[in-house]
Amino acid sequence: PSGTPGRGWIRDRADRGSDRMSDDAATEIVPGWETVIGLEVHAELATATKLFCDAPNQFGGEPNTNIDPVSLGLPGSLPVLNEQAVELAIRVGLALHCRVQRSVFARKNYFYPDMPKDFQISQFDLPINGEGWLEMADGRQVGIERAHLEEDTGKSTHVGGGGRIHEAGHSLVDYNRAGVPLIEIVGAPDLRSAEDARAYVSELRSILVAIGASDGKMEEGSMRVDCNVSVRPMGDPELGTRCEVKNINSLRSLGRAIVYESRRQVDLITSGDRVEQQTRHWDEDEGRTHKLRSKEEAYDYRYFPEPDLVPLDPSVEWIESVRSALPMLPRERRHRLADAAGVDTATASLTVERGMDDLAVEALAAGADAGRVLVHIENNLADGSGLLTAAAFASLVAMEVGGDLTATQAKTVLAVLVVDGGEPAEVAAGMGFEAMDDGALEAIVDGLIAEYDEDWAAFTSGDDKERKKKSGFFVGQIMKATNGQADGRAVNELLARRANG
Ligand code: ADP
Ligand code: MG
Repeated sequence: PSGTPGRGWIRDRADRGSDRMSDDAATEIVPGWETVIGLEVHAELATATKLFCDAPNQFGGEPNTNIDPVSLGLPGSLPVLNEQAVELAIRVGLALHCRVQRSVFARKNYFYPDMPKDFQISQFDLPINGEGWLEMADGRQVGIERAHLEEDTGKSTHVGGGGRIHEAGHSLVDYNRAGVPLIEIVGAPDLRSAEDARAYVSELRSILVAIGASDGKMEEGSMRVDCNVSVRPMGDPELGTRCEVKNINSLRSLGRAIVYESRRQVDLITSGDRVEQQTRHWDEDEGRTHKLRSKEEAYDYRYFPEPDLVPLDPSVEWIESVRSALPMLPRERRHRLADAAGVDTATASLTVERGMDDLAVEALAAGADAGRVLVHIENNLADGSGLLTAAAFASLVAMEVGGDLTATQAKTVLAVLVVDGGEPAEVAAGMGFEAMDDGALEAIVDGLIAEYDEDWAAFTSGDDKERKKKSGFFVGQIMKATNGQADGRAVNELLARRANG
């Protein structure tokens, strides 16, 4: 029943007058049309061993070394549930504000050579995590329909014919991944653009990494995204027919696939055709999607409860102990910094992404100017904060705000503090950054005005272009005369004062 109009969490919230994700008309891919996206994200859980046996859960080993009778589905082998995997799944559920509930494992039956049992143990009608939500960096919330546990399959490599199965000479199967625990997080169709989808996946990845549930590496396949896309005329309350796009390997392909699919579907509809519900394959090289199968050809998985496993019913005590051990999540970090700095969470998000929010919050608590702190983190600390302490950061900003250091000097001192640590006042003094008093600056400026009287006449002529050009010239001369120690803002103010008589 998921994906039914009106069921998504965000629409329910919209009814209550909260932010509505579709209000941003600037994100339209085809003018007049709205793209609707719901993502199914698979993440490999960072356990020591597999979901139902004690073979190691390890990426990159020699093929078929992390295996045992259970991973190979040998007759007579029986699954034993991994407690650590359940605990990580509960962490995911709690971090996504889901209802953590009694669940039942089910057999999902289909044939695939890299799945030796001919069925995958998954969860179907009773997932461990029911509905929840995720808050993106900009504060908008996206519904989570469920997040259930299942086992991963092995991996086939098709040899020859450019790696395509139908042209290959033969295929190799590696069962190292078979039985690795996965959490499948099914998002509500609440996303409206490629940017939304990427922001959602980034946030989800940050959460998974923060709680230690997964390493979130898309490039190693430990996080995989299937993307459901539909389109509808802007303002239409009904959802359009969706296509599910598979084989998306990066955030970039996710965005490209969404744009491609939106255009393809709108083209179909506007040319009098209709969208058929399909599973499609993203081709990165061609930059397009191809049909894999239509709904009519969809597998009937013949789900039934797994007879070799009892229902999973985590106790309230267990759930609560997992909850109390959760670290601070990106969302809480953004809100904490936003409150401390007096900005919105979107503005706070970069600092949190860079892992410098503890530093920033501490510097703010020490009285640092919020604007300067965030600007330094954004512009001057992209490579990390190194040995910079919150106290040093706060004193540096205080010197800057107090006029003892120009913005350029502060940046230079900051770079030293990052590499060597130390006290900003000492570093500044060591570099010869002395505060320049106003009298000295005025004398220099007046000297230069006299020396370059023709340039000064051009500067004051009233012609905007000339003024701009000459302003650059005078600022350059002043900086040269002061060894770069003059404060840019003070210089500009002084020039304006002199020009106005
Ligand atoms: P399935 O069982 O075929 O995977 P679900 O109903 O569970 O189907 O939905 C799977 C995903 O499809 C969910 O992430 C959901 O948000 C998304 N989805 C459902 N309907 C639409 C739609 N009309 N447009 C875009 N995405 C949709
Ligand atoms: Mg699906």
